[in-house]
Amino acid sequence: MESVPLDFLGELRRTHNCGELRASDAGKRALLMGWVHRRRDLGGVVFIHLRDREGVTQLVFHAGTEAHAKVELLASEYVIAAEGTIALRSADTINPSISTGEVEIVVEKLWILNESRTPPFPMEETVDVKEETRLKYRYVDLRRPHMQRNVILRSKVAFAVRQALTNLGFLEIETPFMTRSTPEGARDYLVPNRLQPGTFYALPQSPQIFKQLLMVSGYDKYFQIVRCFRDEAFRADRQAEFTQIDLEMSFPQQETIFSVIEPLIVAAWKVAGFDLKTPFPRMTYAQAMRSYGIDKPEMRLPPFYCVEDLLPDLTAHGLPLVAIRVPKAGAVTRSERDALKDFGKEKGLRVFDDPKRLDRDFPEAMAKVRERIGAQEDDLLLLAGWGGEPQGHRPEETVLQAAGQLRLNAIQKYADRHKLLDPKNFQFLWVTDFPMFEWDEEEQRWMAAHHPFTSVHDEDIEKLTSDPARCRAKSYDLVLNGNELGSGSIRIHRRDVQAKVFSALGFSDDEAKRRFGFLLEALEYGAPPHGGIALGLDRLVMILSEESSIREVIPFPKTARGSDLMCDAPSEIPEKQLRELGLMVRKQS
Ligand code: ASP
Repeated sequence: MESVPLDFLGELRRTHNCGELRASDAGKRALLMGWVHRRRDLGGVVFIHLRDREGVTQLVFHAGTEAHAKVELLASEYVIAAEGTIALRSADTINPSISTGEVEIVVEKLWILNESRTPPFPMEETVDVKEETRLKYRYVDLRRPHMQRNVILRSKVAFAVRQALTNLGFLEIETPFMTRSTPEGARDYLVPNRLQPGTFYALPQSPQIFKQLLMVSGYDKYFQIVRCFRDEAFRADRQAEFTQIDLEMSFPQQETIFSVIEPLIVAAWKVAGFDLKTPFPRMTYAQAMRSYGIDKPEMRLPPFYCVEDLLPDLTAHGLPLVAIRVPKAGAVTRSERDALKDFGKEKGLRVFDDPKRLDRDFPEAMAKVRERIGAQEDDLLLLAGWGGEPQGHRPEETVLQAAGQLRLNAIQKYADRHKLLDPKNFQFLWVTDFPMFEWDEEEQRWMAAHHPFTSVHDEDIEKLTSDPARCRAKSYDLVLNGNELGSGSIRIHRRDVQAKVFSALGFSDDEAKRRFGFLLEALEYGAPPHGGIALGLDRLVMILSEESSIREVIPFPKTARGSDLMCDAPSEIPEKQLRELGLMVRKQS
């Protein structure tokens, strides 16, 4: 890099930012600082677009001035200060695409505060840059307008959330990052402890246990916008560390939690310019499964309907028979139909895709099916039942899940889904009453569907050990357009019930005491009924900024494989440090 003589900041002070000046400021003096965004050299006159996070202002340098002589030295992304007089632009040079487009600064003095190497990619958003390069030079990437928009939106949303919760009487309370394992279904990230080699802290998968302890301590209405750490299997849009809006309340019903979250969501959406209507609809897990075959339904697309009562002849083992309506897709070809049939078959379904034949064989029943699902003339109608022996501990769920996938596949391929999937149509939904347990094939045991501190439905307590598959939890998810935005539950506040749930989960008394003894003990010291929820801030901001990856709304994200390409983390550590920690690395062969 060729060096240019640099100036000191000294006592220079900005009078305005780069997005601030308007026609009414004409005639005043201004001193601006920022980055050289673009430069146009018209011989006698040089124009510079000066940029900071608030916007862009045009600087004009006329030949013959001292500033003009110096402007020759400037290149992209140099950091400068410029002082001059604000002038109105002539009508034909007004730039409506920038907020300061009616004015420019006629520069008399220029200071070069720092130079810049040629940036690895241009600042224009129209230029497509490889994500790897963007992440390696993230500090440059973050200057680009769309990243600035996202990061600023994120900050404003976080502020709105703090404001909404504070107004409702919540307290923001911190919980430790270096702690014990908190079970949220992932592996822990561990931190070795130098003072007692061989012992480790775990980074929290969530503040779950601490927020429950805060309820025991009487700090009703806690919240935190907090980083959580989960070592999970590689999945496309996951981050090892991510941010949750985490809260907990004492003495709540499920509806109490909803009545906090709804105004919070309204406030966050308002920041992005949207007005939402509340209350959001509610649907039990069982209903969601019987209408969408999934616990996070995409409500902008039509549901399916269970019709086994109308067509018992097509129903096997008493399992669901599902009628799927694919809007305006009646004209699909034979081979497209076959493809859908094959897709269904792969998932275990038997797909009846020939409505003419069904109409002939079951005229009355089919008329009722059409009426139930609201089928139009030009819609495609698929019927799907189970193609084999019942499977799983909740076999009806296996069928409904498969049908749910067929529904999405068919609609995504053949319906006019671009019309249906308007990104500005926000369909929120509360899904409630999830099953208490999920069967883990690998471990051959029941696992907590939410986490092990979740309350079972009062009337299902007796089934905890006799019929775990049918136990419902007092848990709920907030769903938006097919995405889970957050989950929560009413917790167990009694030690006897918590012990029962641990035992249903296959923890021996000893193991439960070893892992969660302090929690069990705390429940013996006057734990109030309590409950809460956590919302994923990254995903929420991603949806609000119409991005398709959370990496676009996290300032310094890791790649899908967990690397930070900019600072090259994770990295090996020197032998000396390992020794201090009492660690030895076993090389993977
Ligand atoms: N700790 C839970 C989670 O991280 C949320 C909750 O139950 O409040 O998903």
